[in-house]
Amino acid sequence: MPKVRPDLALFGAYHSPQVQVEVRLNTNESPFSPAADFTEELFRSLSSADLNRYPDRMAKELRKSLAELHSVAPEQIFIGNGSNEVISTLFLAYGGPGRKAMTFEPTYAMYSQIARITSTEVIEVERDREFALGLDEVVSVQEATRPEVVFFCSPNNPTGLDEDPEIISAVAQDENTLVVIDEAYGQFASFSALKLAQNRSNIVVSKTFSKVWSLAGLRLGYLIGPEDIVANLWDVCLPYHIDTIKQLAGRLSLERVNDMEGTLDRILAGRDEIEGALKRLDLKYWPSSANFILFRGPDGLGDRLWQALVDRSVLVRNCSGWPRLKDCLRVTVGTEEENARFITALSESLAELRS
Ligand code: PMP
Repeated sequence: MPKVRPDLALFGAYHSPQVQVEVRLNTNESPFSPAADFTEELFRSLSSADLNRYPDRMAKELRKSLAELHSVAPEQIFIGNGSNEVISTLFLAYGGPGRKAMTFEPTYAMYSQIARITSTEVIEVERDREFALGLDEVVSVQEATRPEVVFFCSPNNPTGLDEDPEIISAVAQDENTLVVIDEAYGQFASFSALKLAQNRSNIVVSKTFSKVWSLAGLRLGYLIGPEDIVANLWDVCLPYHIDTIKQLAGRLSLERVNDMEGTLDRILAGRDEIEGALKRLDLKYWPSSANFILFRGPDGLGDRLWQALVDRSVLVRNCSGWPRLKDCLRVTVGTEEENARFITALSESLAELRS
């Protein structure tokens, strides 16, 4: 047997532990199932779909619906199995040996993970203690290293903060740089880089159905960008990679924007509720533009706080051992009941640890 490539054996995969608990607030999905009539209609449409045939390779109808939603041309839309596949396709087309990708740490771990898998060099720029970026530093690192691709994440996972549009624009001034803005959590924020992307030849924005659209289990994401970049992505992806079920589900979802907006309102109300509790409990947290909130446990007790929550059957993401995130935990906004369970468990856990 050949051994795995030595450069791959050096790092562990990115996985959130799947502990058996009653309240799971660790992976930033929507806590709400899709509406019953959506599922019924999906099943009905599926019963007349030709599943013996390959799907429409270019997902024309779904792209048309997405193009209408965003007022762009269908040729400006690439689709992936989740936005993770969008990111990996970007690396296949624009990364690789001899190429560089710039990330702003801490950020979503998949950028550097896929960079390494594709032998793309990673240039890491540090955010400050409050996770903000400095324009001068970003531009000077860009000028010194000349990365082919730069990844912004807005709102940023795991901090929940929006990226600064001024910095995105400054980086995009260099037309030899492809600027990616990952808006997986874009609907929860007031800022979208889509406006910046208009009329620019080097900005792309990726989005997903996994969060506010309540379809994480279906794996559907997409990218909006200039036609030539989008065409390159369609060239490197596998044939027929977007299956018939996904294409149908995506189109049916887009006919139900009201459902999505209802979900959004409930999640935003839940976010306010949790932020209010974090404030009352005197914990440091970062006001979030996403469907999750990063907060810091008492000094040196991040791991113990996470365990105390698990002991109360509440699972959040333990970031306390990650670089730059000492004692930090990340909680996803859940249903009203789940949020209440989290808040009670948190206040009991803190009382236990502080006594
Ligand atoms: N981007 C960011 C910032 C994320 O947090 C996630 C999900 N954790 C993704 C992309 C990928 O989501 P999906 O593949 O489900 O679209």
